[in-house]
Parts: sequence; C-alpha cells; structure tokens
Amino acid sequence: MVAGKINALRQNNDLRRLTLLIGVALALFGVALIVVVAYAGWSANRTAVIRERQLVENALDNRVSRVLDEQKSIAWWDDAITNLTRGRVNTQWADVEYGAFLSETYHHSEVFVLNDHDAPVYAYIGGARVDAAAAYDLVRPVIAKVVAEARGAAPTLRSRARAFEAGRSRYREQLGGINPRWSGHILSVQGRPAVVSVMSIVPNVTPSLLHGEPYLLVSVVRIDDAFMRELGDGLLLPDLRLVAAGRDTGALTFEPFSADDGASLGYLQWTTKQPGKTLLLFILPLVALGVLLAGMLTAVMIRRLKRASNALATREAQARHDSLHDPLCGLPNRRQFTAQLQEELDALVVTRNSRRVVVACIDIDRFKDVNDTMGHHAGDMLVKAVADRLKPCLGPTDVLARFGSDEFAVLRTAANAQESIALTDMLQRTLSRDFEVMGQTVAVTASIGVAEAPEHGFSSDELMRAADIALYQAKSQGRARSMVFCAEMAAEVEQRREIEVQLRAAIENDALDLYYQPLISCADGSIRSAEALLRWRHPERGDIAPSVFVPIAEEAGLMPALGAWVIERAFADSARWPDLEIAVNLSPVQFRHVDLSETLHRLARKHRLEPSRILFEVTEGVLLESTERNRSILDTIRAMGFRVALDDFGTGYSSLRYLADFRFDKIKIDRAFVTSINERNRAMTIIKAVVTLGRGLGMDIVAEGVETEAEAAAMRMLGVTQLQGFYFSRPVPANEVAGVLEAFARATHGEARAPSQIRAG
Ligand code: C2E
Ligand code: CA
Ligand code: CA
Repeated sequence: MVAGKINALRQNNDLRRLTLLIGVALALFGVALIVVVAYAGWSANRTAVIRERQLVENALDNRVSRVLDEQKSIAWWDDAITNLTRGRVNTQWADVEYGAFLSETYHHSEVFVLNDHDAPVYAYIGGARVDAAAAYDLVRPVIAKVVAEARGAAPTLRSRARAFEAGRSRYREQLGGINPRWSGHILSVQGRPAVVSVMSIVPNVTPSLLHGEPYLLVSVVRIDDAFMRELGDGLLLPDLRLVAAGRDTGALTFEPFSADDGASLGYLQWTTKQPGKTLLLFILPLVALGVLLAGMLTAVMIRRLKRASNALATREAQARHDSLHDPLCGLPNRRQFTAQLQEELDALVVTRNSRRVVVACIDIDRFKDVNDTMGHHAGDMLVKAVADRLKPCLGPTDVLARFGSDEFAVLRTAANAQESIALTDMLQRTLSRDFEVMGQTVAVTASIGVAEAPEHGFSSDELMRAADIALYQAKSQGRARSMVFCAEMAAEVEQRREIEVQLRAAIENDALDLYYQPLISCADGSIRSAEALLRWRHPERGDIAPSVFVPIAEEAGLMPALGAWVIERAFADSARWPDLEIAVNLSPVQFRHVDLSETLHRLARKHRLEPSRILFEVTEGVLLESTERNRSILDTIRAMGFRVALDDFGTGYSSLRYLADFRFDKIKIDRAFVTSINERNRAMTIIKAVVTLGRGLGMDIVAEGVETEAEAAAMRMLGVTQLQGFYFSRPVPANEVAGVLEAFARATHGEARAPSQIRAG
C-alpha cells in the first residue's frame, strides 16, 4: 500500500520533470523560431534599403558623370577655343553653342565660362546671358571648391563621377595628348542641392590651339523634383524625393543625404520594396500563432497525460490493494497474510529472541448451512459481522485476514505460550455470542487450528500447513473447538489424505462391497430386516472400517457418489430377498444435495422397487442441521413410501423431542446403551422411556450391538421389538444372506436366539 503510493509519487515526479522539460524546450524553440523569422524579415528589409540607397547613390554618381559628359561634348572643341579664349568672348556663339544648348538640351540651370585665372567671362542663367561677374559672385564660394579641384588641387570633396573618370586615358588619346581636367560634385548651391560640374575647355582636333591654362566650363544642374523623378524612374523607385525633413514610417524610408563637402542636403525619401514584408506581416504572425497553438496543445496534452497517469497510478494502487485484500470485508487475503507472516518469521530468525509467532486459522462451523438456508447474502453478512466483531478484539500488531468463504486467520506475535492460548480463548468467546443476521439470530461456533513458530516451522508455508492440519483436526473432532498442531496430527492427516485418494479410486473401480446384518424380531425370532453396511477391502491395509472412511468421504466431498452407489446397490440386492426390509444408512451430507429424493425416485423406478421395503437410517444430526430443509426432504422420502429410522439414538443430544417432532418408523438405540445396561440405571430408564414413547407412536425399537445372550434378554425384557448384533450375526456378504436366513429359519421356532454357527461366523 505504502510502496504503491511512493511509486505513484515517484512516477508523478518523473512526469513533472519531463513535462517541465518539454514545456521549456517548446517555449525556447517557439521564441527562437519567432526571433529567426522576425530577424529574417527585418534583415531582408534592411538589406533592401541599403541596396536601394546604394543604387540611388550610384545613380547620382552616374548623373554627375552624365553632366560631365554633356559638358565634354562642347568643351572639347576647337571652335570653343577660338570663340571663347582668344581675348574676347564671342557671346553670340557662346549663347547658341553653350548657354542655350546646355540649358535647353540638358537642362543645366546655370552655365559659366571661367578664364585661365578663374575669372568669369560668360554666364547664362534662366534662358538668357547675364552679367557674368555679378552672377558668379553669388555662387563663387561653393563653385570655387570644384574649380580648385579641376585645376589640380588636392581633392577635399567626396569623389564622384567614377564612370566618367574611367575614360581618362581614352580621352587623352582622343585629344592628341592633351590632359583634360574636370571635376563634378553634388553641393548645396544657394541653399539648394545641385550638381556642380567643371570641365576644362580644350581643342579636340588641333592640340596646338591650346596655350597656357585652359578656360573652364562650369554647369550647375539643380537637383529638383523633376531631377529626382527621372532618377527614381530609372531605379524603379517612382516616388524617390529629396525632402527637408522626415521620419521612417513603415514602407516609406528616409535616408539622410549630404553634399560632397558634408553639408546636409535633407533626406532621400522613397517607398522601399520591403522583401521581408511578407515574412513579417504574414509568416511571422502565423508562426507566432502556430507556436502559441502548439504550446496550448502541448499544455492540454501534458495535462491529459498527467491526469491519465494519475488515474493509472491510482488504479494500479487499487489493483494492488485488491489483489491483497478480500473484497467483502477489506481484510488482507491469504496472499497478503502469508507475506506478512513471512516477514514476522524473518524478523524472528534475525532477532533470535524468545518470541513466538502464532497463526490461528478460524473456520465458522456450519457456515454452509447459513448460506443454504438463508441465502448467500445472509452468508456474506454473517462473514462481515464476524470480521467486525473480531477486529476490535485484536491488538494493534495482530493481523486479521480472510481466506475464503468462512475462513479467517489471525497472526499474532506472542511473548509466551499463555498468550496463544489466551488468543484462542478470546476468539472462541467472541464468536460464541449470537449474531444478528437479517433480523434473525444466528448461533455460531468456530473451529480453530493453531500453529506456532518456531516449534511448528520456520516458513510461512510450513506454519500455514500446520495450522490447517490443526483446524482440520478440530473440525473432524466435532467442531466448536481449538486445537494446537502436533506432529501426530500431521501423520494422521497424511493418512487421511492417502485414504481419500484411494477411496476415490475404489469408488471408481467398484472396489467396495455391501454387507448385510440381519435384525432379529423379538416376537418370533425371525429375520424381517437387514442393515446394509459398507465394506472396503483395501489391497494393502486390509479391511478399512466405514467408521474410518465414511467421515473422510464426507469431508472430501465423496459422499454423494458413495451414497448413491450404496443406495443403488442396496436396491438391486433387495430383489434377492423379497421378504426382507433393507436398511440403508444416509449421511447428513447426502441431504445437502437437492437431488436426493430425485435420485431415490429414479432408482426405485429403475429397480422396480416397492419403496416400503427400504428403510433409511438417519442420525439426529440430520434433524439438527438445517432443520427446515432436511425435514422437508425427510417428509418427501416418507411420502414416497420409504421408511425412516432414527439411528444411534442416545449418542448425541438424545432429545426425546425429535421423536415427538418427526414421525420415525423405527428407533435404533445405540450400542453404548445396550452395553452399559448392566452398570447404569440411567440407561435402563432412558431405554424404558424410549420404548414406551416409541411403542405409543407405533414405532419399532431396535437395540444395536447386542453381543451376549444377557444383553439380548435384557433388551427383550425392556420391550425392544428388534435386536441387532454380533450375538446373532455379523454383517455378511450379500451371497451369504440367504444362508443366514435359512439357518435362522431352521434354528428358531418363535424364539429370538442366535444359531451358534452364525454367531461364530
Ligand atoms: P451404524 O449405522 O450404527 O451401524 C452399525 C455398526 O455396528 C456397524 O459397524 C456394525 O458392524 C456394528 N455392529 C453390529 N453389531 C455389533 C456388535 O454386536 N458389536 C459391535 N461392537 N458392533 C456391532 P460398521 O459396519 O463398522 O459401520 C460403522 C458405521 O459406519 C455405521 O454405524 C454407519 O454409521 C457407518 N456406515 C456403514 N455403512 C454405511 C453406509 O452405507 N452409509 C453411511 N452413510 N454410513 C455407513
Ligand atoms: Ca445404521
Ligand atoms: Ca447405529
């Protein structure tokens, strides 16, 4: 029980640990999955933004290269040298070929020409030539940086126009060795972003035209909305803008944008492609939901598992308890009892003290009758009542167990022999008080068999066997008593067992015989009746008396078969002596079988037998046990025409009440009375009373076991009607009966005297 609980607890702990492990693992896995997906989405977006940003930068770079390219188409030109750098600027030519061309064809918003000393000599702004000096003054501080770079100063600005730069050696070749100079940048011009591009004006066909430092062509291309739109279209970012201020909101990205000298130009703004959007917007919530669902599912499953395992543990404990306990009383069963007994015995061996372990096997006498007459429910209630009464009478260390229908056992560790006697006394006393079962008072006695360790054995098997034998002995000695095991009992029981086995075989092999003993009529000395008596000639033991093997047959459950055999045989034999009444002994056990009257009916028909020729002898026990039932069976038997005798009168309760209660046809006074007739007056008085009562009721009175002439005479004098005993004849085999009858017929003439030859046989 305790072990079962501990086991269940341990199991629960294991489960709790496992559950926690699964829970934590799942939670970690779930969180990791969410983080990974979120990071993948975010990083895809971030990478896209960086890439888009890079593309924008590249496009701007290319745009600067393009402006340089546009400039190049008119700056590297022999005509430009002649029209611009020969002392006086040919303004008409410059308007057409430079100002108008660049602003109209390429949308350069401001066009300047600087001379070899970087002084402005020409300016074209807003579709018209303007005063070069004044106009240039407005933008000089910014443009001067680019001009300086174009003149060969160390670069201070972020480098641009790599695409254009790549063609440097090719240009030099084209220009016949002249090394053209340029510089292009993105800068804040008058507070607004613009591409500022400076290109040296050199001859393209005749290098010799160039003398000294070249003039410079300066272009300003405003980075306005149109500029950005064109840029964006090329990059598939249609909403690319340059804005003064902004903030990242969802798909709209703001990236700070600075001029090549580091000054802030505001922000680049565009809608990014956001390739991670699907991940973040759809997959991430799905994953989160999945993780949540999986978590919930696991939680439910774990809870179910836990509940199932709890139920299992409980059921297991229950099953273990059930397997060790009796379902009716909840007492330990035989298995549990023997286990505990073994534990006690082991302790006894270990401690080697003077204690003893006592086992008392208790059997409720005639419990079967309660079951048979009052029903199984009443039987169960009686068993429970017995258990309930015994429990409080036992000590806290005593063990009370129930083995079977009406079998109990007590285990007690006693200090001395007195204690074990006190135990059996207490048990007998406790059970001798009446029980109340279903409103009826039931008187109970108990047979108790006791065995003790170490005297009677050291193992639970030995001890249980010894207690069983003692119980068996107590029962066979008339029940309602306690017996302590002793070695002779074992031998006796062993012998009984052996006889039981052999008797079983004898019944099957028809190795039994029926003898007949005549009853002599006192009136005329004739034989009117004979009693059938069982004989068993054992191949090794010789003749075994029925007083030995009949009780064994009764205990072993062989009586129904044996009894039926006797009845059948007696019925068959009776046909040989048509004038004789045949007496057949019936065991009380035969009454417990419902089919007794049915058997008699069947056999009488089979042997075409007149029932009145058969007399059944029963003992008081039949009337004592299960009164109602047995009595009604007796009634049935009589109603069928059979006769009934009360056998062994005077041995048991000898209550005259039975004679009055039930109509017997014959009373057989036991041999004990016949033998003691000379010594005891009391016997004489009783026989007289029985004879008077019996004759008054019209019964035959038989004296059994008449061995001497004196006894025969005394019985005759007392008024007995029939005599039976060795004095007249011993029981003889069936084929000798005719001889006995003949001898009697010859020897007697109205007198009940035994013929001498028969007496001798
Ligand atoms: P019981 O029914 O009282 O049978 C009479 C017994 O007394 C017989 O013993 C018989 O041999 C014996 N007897 C007869 N005359 C004398 C005598 O002058 N002196 C002495 N000492 N004994 C005498 P048996 O045959 O040994 O049977 C013993 C008992 O066994 C019977 O007692 C009866 O109770 C039982 N028994 C015998 N045959 C059967 C049977 O077929 N069925 C049943 N149920 N019981 C039987
Ligand atoms: Ca008899
Ligand atoms: Ca008898």
